[in-house]
Amino acid sequence: MPSPRVIYWFRTDLRLHDSPALQAALDLEPECLFPVWCWDPHYVYRARVGVNRWQFLIDCQNDVSKSITKINPNSKLFVVREAPQTVLPKLWKKWRITHIVFEKDTDAYARDRDEAVRELARKAGVEVIVRMGRTLYDPDELVRENGGKPTMSITQVQNAGKKLTIPRPIPAPTSLPDPGDTDLSGIEPEPPAANPDLNAAHRNNPDTTYHALAGPAGTFAVPTLDELGLPPATTPHRGGEQTALTALAAILTDKTYTATFEKPKTAPTAFSPQSTTLLSPHLHFGSLSAREFYWRVQDILSAFKHSKPSRPPTSLTGQLLFRDMYFGAQAALGHPFSQSISNPSCRFIPWHLPSTLDPTTARPTTGRYTIDHPAAETWFKRWKAGLTGYPFIDALMRQLRTEGWIHHLGRHAVACFLTRGGAYVAWERGAEVFEEWLLDHETACNAGNWQWVACAAFSGAQYYRVYSPVAFGRKWDAEGVFVRRYVPELARFDRRFVYEPWRAPVADQKRWGCRVLGDGRGGAGGRVKEGEGEYLVYPKPMFDFGERREVCVRGLKSAFAAGLYGADESVVDGSWRGR
Ligand code: FAD
Repeated sequence: MPSPRVIYWFRTDLRLHDSPALQAALDLEPECLFPVWCWDPHYVYRARVGVNRWQFLIDCQNDVSKSITKINPNSKLFVVREAPQTVLPKLWKKWRITHIVFEKDTDAYARDRDEAVRELARKAGVEVIVRMGRTLYDPDELVRENGGKPTMSITQVQNAGKKLTIPRPIPAPTSLPDPGDTDLSGIEPEPPAANPDLNAAHRNNPDTTYHALAGPAGTFAVPTLDELGLPPATTPHRGGEQTALTALAAILTDKTYTATFEKPKTAPTAFSPQSTTLLSPHLHFGSLSAREFYWRVQDILSAFKHSKPSRPPTSLTGQLLFRDMYFGAQAALGHPFSQSISNPSCRFIPWHLPSTLDPTTARPTTGRYTIDHPAAETWFKRWKAGLTGYPFIDALMRQLRTEGWIHHLGRHAVACFLTRGGAYVAWERGAEVFEEWLLDHETACNAGNWQWVACAAFSGAQYYRVYSPVAFGRKWDAEGVFVRRYVPELARFDRRFVYEPWRAPVADQKRWGCRVLGDGRGGAGGRVKEGEGEYLVYPKPMFDFGERREVCVRGLKSAFAAGLYGADESVVDGSWRGR
């Protein structure tokens, strides 16, 4: 038997600690190990990825590459600029690969991609080894133990989990085999149409094909934002395994915080520092292992004697179980999980306005919805721009756009406001915006949580309980420190008016340097001249919340009465109306 020549394919696991897949690769005792990342055009061009998430990904890649080089100066992360389905077979041939090893990914798109790669590997005689390491439980096993059904509640996860184990983390390797010769000469890249990333690479390195595949100067380097044609990131949150492990260690130093964490008691208005862990982007990119996080929390819990520790669902353990719940739901439902149409677990709700989902995305469109409203598209745009005229909602949306992360209850507030607690816009539209702007965007968690907040799935029938865009923020932060931070137009407003600036007398508005006027058309930071003075402008509320709340509750009530799940395209063109 020739000794193994292995590609380790990094994807959702940009770390060296606790990586069962990497361990499986090392267990082969390979003659050489090529740590590879493929720029998948699906991710690069088709999924919605804002500049902040790009930055985070690049941080993770650079960090893992540095860690590889630290334990083997001959090695690093070899970044290849082409779709895995086309480039891997070429690498196998050129580098005489015997095995490819990667972490299991149960996302709907990833399953299709990995199935294609498996088939190609089978034809090429390359052995494929896959290990789970992304979640506490293997989502497929969780679903199996849940009777083959999607996991739709924490109780189901806990019951199914009793029949499974969560493995203890594996230490990071202390050495790695050398890669073999990484020459790519003679390899033909896909034509630019099939691989648009080559266009950018050619622009920088018009000399050879080799350079196009292996990046500038053929170094297999991690790209920069500039090279990708992107502007600088605006987020203060940075990625990488070392950053993740340092953040985790800092959180766990406070044993009382760790052991008594209760999500509903953490403030959505806290920033610098935030009130929850902010580890979600690290879990998304795999720069932190969920199992590492879980076991280190369990070790603290078992030694904690001071007071009663919190328990799932509100505890830190509970938060990780929620993550597994959504992964289990998606694993069982596949592509339809991200939409209302054809999703058997999702209640059909006839939201306002036609959906404009981008037809170039992999996901099927959701079709047209039935109850049009002339202002709904404007409401959606104002929500996205952080110009609804409700300062708490606007502060959250602006924090999301500039920083890429907002607190869970903040996500609840803005998602409720867009869907069943105000604008009555389809949850998929909001999920698209989150997909673009969140650092931690996780298909399963995003779609699942939107369904939850919109009362389309997961949660109970409490659609009449709606977050007030005024009272909810004020409850956490009576002074409006959070609003002043992210909506600087209102920085000088008195605490009585900071959540309802339209109620402030005009003379006071002028004294505090901001007039509450118009519909936000001038954008944030617009100005107006009145008499001798010039003032910032903040918009008036885009609708009367009380009135909208009634409309929404009525709509939800009829959708609950209809009890329509897994609706197909036929319901969205009008036949639903009047049922
Ligand atoms: P912590 O409270 O410190 O929790 C620890 C970890 O548990 C998190 O890092 C996260 O991985 C997990 N977790 C906590 N709450 C949830 C939850 N409700 N669902 C799933 N996992 C959870 N989370 C994502 O990771 N990606 C998303 O795309 C995403 N989209 C969301 C969309 C909406 C509309 C809502 C309401 C929530 C969404 N969440 C998403 C869930 C949750 O808001 C974030 O996971 C959490 O706020 C991240 O902050 P944290 O790391 O400080 O969480």
